[in-house]
Amino acid sequence: MGTYENWRQKKLASKKTKAGQIELGYSNFGTYTVTDLDTGQDMLVQTDLDFPGTASTFGWSPAMVQKDFTKEIEKKAFDEDWTAEQENKALADAQANFTPCRHPYTDGTTDCKVCGVTVGEFIESARQYLDDHIGDVVEDPGYFGGE
Ligand SMILES: [Zn+2]
Repeated sequence: MGTYENWRQKKLASKKTKAGQIELGYSNFGTYTVTDLDTGQDMLVQTDLDFPGTASTFGWSPAMVQKDFTKEIEKKAFDEDWTAEQENKALADAQANFTPCRHPYTDGTTDCKVCGVTVGEFIESARQYLDDHIGDVVEDPGYFGGE
C-alpha cells in the first residue's frame, strides 16, 4: 500500500506527537483511519453507521443536517405547474418559517422521528464532513483507551 503508507508516515513524522491526540485520515475504498499520534496505531473506520460517530468526534453534529424543503417545493411546483412567482413565494415562506430540528432522539445512526431526516442523509453528511476534515487532530475521546 505504497502511497497511503508513505503519506501517513510523513504526516506522523511532520507532527509533534502529543499524548492523547488522534488524527483523521483517508484509507482505501471510502474508508477512514483514526490514528493515535502517540503510538502511530491506526483504527479503520469502514462501516457507514460508524461515520456519524467518528465525524462527531471531529466536530460534526447531526444538527448540521436539516430537511431540504426546496426539493419538495420544486417538485410540487413542477407537478402543479406553478409560475416562477408562486414558486419563489413558497420558497421564501418556507425559508421564513423554517425551524432547524435538533434531532433529539438520534445521534445520526437512525432516522429523525421529529423532522424526517433519514439515516442515509445523516451518513452522507458525516461522510462529506470526514472528507473535508482529513488531517484534523483532536483529543482522543477514548478510541485508544486511556493510560
Ligand atoms: Zn430532526
